[in-house]
Amino acid sequence: MQEKKISLQPEYINAVKKYTEAYGVAHARAPRAFVQTFGCQQNEADSERLAGLAKSMGYELTDTPESAQLIIVNTCAVREHAEKKTLSVIGQYKHIKAEDPELIIAVCGCMVGQEHRRNELKMRYPYVDFTFPPASPQMLPKLLSERLAGGRRVFVPGEERPPICEDIPVHRESKHRAWVSVMYGCNNFCTYCIVPYVRGRERSRAPEDIIAEVRGLAEAGVRDITLLGQNVNSYGKNTDFDCDFSTLLRRVSEVDGDFRLRFMTSHPKDATFALIDAIAECDKVAKHLHLPVQSGSDRILERMNRHYSVESYMEKLDYLRARVPDAAVTSDIIVGFPGETEEDFLATLDILRRARYDRIFSFIYSPRRGTPAAEMEDQIAGEVKSERFARLIELQNEITLEKNRELVGKTFRVLCDGVSRTNEKYLEGRTEHDRIVIFEGEGIAIGDTVELEITKADTFNLFGKILEK
Ligand code: SF4
Repeated sequence: MQEKKISLQPEYINAVKKYTEAYGVAHARAPRAFVQTFGCQQNEADSERLAGLAKSMGYELTDTPESAQLIIVNTCAVREHAEKKTLSVIGQYKHIKAEDPELIIAVCGCMVGQEHRRNELKMRYPYVDFTFPPASPQMLPKLLSERLAGGRRVFVPGEERPPICEDIPVHRESKHRAWVSVMYGCNNFCTYCIVPYVRGRERSRAPEDIIAEVRGLAEAGVRDITLLGQNVNSYGKNTDFDCDFSTLLRRVSEVDGDFRLRFMTSHPKDATFALIDAIAECDKVAKHLHLPVQSGSDRILERMNRHYSVESYMEKLDYLRARVPDAAVTSDIIVGFPGETEEDFLATLDILRRARYDRIFSFIYSPRRGTPAAEMEDQIAGEVKSERFARLIELQNEITLEKNRELVGKTFRVLCDGVSRTNEKYLEGRTEHDRIVIFEGEGIAIGDTVELEITKADTFNLFGKILEK
């Protein structure tokens, strides 16, 4: 099956350009666009395309909403808390609009992929001009040009299989790191997850389009490229590309250039031995695998509709450790899933001891309206969830500290990301295992690669000294 592909519509882009040019004449400067992102890497990648589009239509980018003539809020729906936070931020824009009635406020992303949130914005946020679904930046020119022309407020629902648009300009936040989406949507319907309901069915970009984008990035000097998808291991399924994800990884790593290749997110049921072989055999591919296990209990994994068992999961981890002994492994864990007993939770603690992850991203289960798990009867009490969450973190911190201490004295190539977030006197960067190292680095610039020896480790940080630039 061939994915539906569409192109940008120049008539709408030109209509907006007319407005931005006229604004420029009237105000002796271009109108400004503020793009705000909540949520995951996929949303960050979508926002880079929204920013690229706004610039191509004549807007300058600004990092303050107060100075903008166009505000685009790219939202997340992964947890109730994230949505509430986003709605309170949008609420604050009421005052900016009161100051400048010409301001356009657009909301997109997963939160507005849900009908009840679109209705809420329509009824209770009259200063929001339009909304459009996630992964659909190509809709912006039409909606913006129609609203600028005095059109009514619009709240666009999501589609089952939104088309793929390849010719969208991208404004990248970083010069040395880049996101490259390889697929959109998800068909897995894990019972706790809202993504399949808001991002639609899986659609894979054509391999040649992905390779062309990576080649362009490599030629532009980008040093670290992450291939993105809700479940990258489903790449190429139901297409006539004859290219699954491990093949794509090999083909992309053949592109000329000095860059590291990463990918996220993998689903354990679709992560293959062929993928692990590609990690082991392709020099450019980072020796790191993020493999979300979510729970250590087969009973809970079944209630989550995850389609793998703890044993099949561990089999893949053991194979990875055999093929790539120093690979870093990270995971996601949900605590307090409906029906989780103390025994189930102890099984989760057990898989932490067996898997010995470098680090985990852990979450307290949050019911998502519209998902099957939210309707399950045996919801766990808040204090039980918090108590289990604390025990989980305590155990994982012990493991992470032990693993970090094993790295003292070892040397790694580190790509400098800039000033350390924990101490401005230092720089920080990532190893090919996606471990963050803090170091002193006079004369070292963002994007430089340095050889470092690990001199000290604690639970959350590695510290190093430069051996050579
Ligand atoms: S794989 Fe599961 S958790 Fe991940 S996006 Fe798809 S439905 Fe959500």
